[in-house]
Amino acid sequence: MPDMKLTVLGARGSIPVDGEKYNIFGGATSSYMLKAGEEIIFLDAGNGIINAPDTGNRPVSIVISHSHLDHILGLPFFGGMTIPGKKINIYARREDVDKLYAPPLWPVSISEYPADVSFCDIKDVFNIGDVRFEAAASNHPGGSNIYKILYGARKIVYATDYEHDGSGDTELTGLCRDADLILYDAQYTPEDYERKKGFGHSTVEAGLSVLKESHARLMIFVHHDPNYDDCKLLALDREIAVPNAHYARAGEVITI
Ligand SMILES: [Zn+2]
Ligand SMILES: [Zn+2]
Repeated sequence: MPDMKLTVLGARGSIPVDGEKYNIFGGATSSYMLKAGEEIIFLDAGNGIINAPDTGNRPVSIVISHSHLDHILGLPFFGGMTIPGKKINIYARREDVDKLYAPPLWPVSISEYPADVSFCDIKDVFNIGDVRFEAAASNHPGGSNIYKILYGARKIVYATDYEHDGSGDTELTGLCRDADLILYDAQYTPEDYERKKGFGHSTVEAGLSVLKESHARLMIFVHHDPNYDDCKLLALDREIAVPNAHYARAGEVITI
């Protein structure tokens, strides 16, 4: 099997931010491009998806974790949407997407774009070509999916919009066992977390415990708080005491 390649298109949480204070870690919300052999799969469609490279006429899949605004607000601006006949499979609850992208909030539905758009239900297990997805419920207000993604012997876990459960995160640790890469929601510092318990996001400290217990190879922290600029995130990044974890940066490419 060829390598899997993950590109960070947007790792900001909650709402996009803009300006020179956000050049390094980026201001666009959640979207990651995964290339596995012939498959091109986007994890979430925050406005980071508008940074995607041109995929021409090739079919693509977009797998949504959940329908909070920051994870679907880039959908109409994904370049492929305007290519007539381009096959785009969106794994999401269609009724959620249709609720947002319809008058009066938006002029047209996603299905009315020139691309050939299909909606697919998210099952517990589904395959996109040779890539296997296993969905698990996240601890997040309104729900979200954590995805275990398997391709040959390689394994990625996408755990955005996840709040640690206070009892050791045994379920998530099990999902992450021996993973090559974990994307982990570390939106808050421990101090901010104390004031934002129940908001559905986690911390570096809780992530590092999952990393250690699961024996995974690499963890990147995602869903950066919109109030944390580059200066703050660089300082937090320097405090991470292990070599195999860091805050995701806009444009970063990880090959596994
Ligand atoms: Zn989010
Ligand atoms: Zn959310």
